[in-house]
Amino acid sequence: MSAAAHEVIDHRLAHALHVASLPRDQARAEARRGGLFQVSTVDALFAGDLEGDLTFAELAEHGDLGLGTLDGLDGEMIALDGRFLRADVDGRVTDVPAQARTPFAVVTRFRAALEFTLQAPLDHDGFLAELDRRAPPTCALRVDGRFDRLRLRSVARQPPHTSLADAARAQHVFELDDVEGTLVGFRFPDYAQGLEVPGYHLHFVDAARERGGHVLECRPAGVRVRLDPESDLHVELPPGIELGEAGASAEQIREVEG
Ligand SMILES: [Zn+2]
Repeated sequence: MSAAAHEVIDHRLAHALHVASLPRDQARAEARRGGLFQVSTVDALFAGDLEGDLTFAELAEHGDLGLGTLDGLDGEMIALDGRFLRADVDGRVTDVPAQARTPFAVVTRFRAALEFTLQAPLDHDGFLAELDRRAPPTCALRVDGRFDRLRLRSVARQPPHTSLADAARAQHVFELDDVEGTLVGFRFPDYAQGLEVPGYHLHFVDAARERGGHVLECRPAGVRVRLDPESDLHVELPPGIELGEAGASAEQIREVEG
């Protein structure tokens, strides 16, 4: 079957990041060749599409590092070393059952191509500035080490059709001090907005795999940074969702994603 018959490429993205939205079977086959694999879009989440039909067992076929959420926005998902973890509303981490489902996730088979250490303590903006100097516009990141402080958030399970903006008002913000652990996530360019959270989207889990969440702010104090440049994004769209639909505004995303 010809992929071109169904493939939709958003031309805003095509020059730098190849984005293909494909019917489910094709998206899954394509993604096994490498690159980023994404379930649904940030816009679909904003629209209240909080129930997915892809299981974590299926998601695991496409990557071993990444982030996302669970059905009903029931916590923050962290994928690391092929293990899929969920941070609940209070930041308590447990393994995600293989048959649980996700309405939004991005994963990749992580292979570090760039690596450096940041020894000095940095505030959040200083940390992002260091990443900006070295990170390609689209990449997966893994940052291991010590953190003086992290401000994290998670979300409790929401009723069906709750918008992400409404869910954001129910989010729980908490802090971890002087902790060892790992940030995982992605950098996406501004033009990927709607599909993605533009800029850095990072989730954290501590070394004991007991506490974690979506990162609002972090202060690293001696970390090893590994980057995996990416150029292909395979988006599996749920029925009824298309690329290029009216998107969440930058303001909405800032409000929700910090
Ligand atoms: Zn997140």
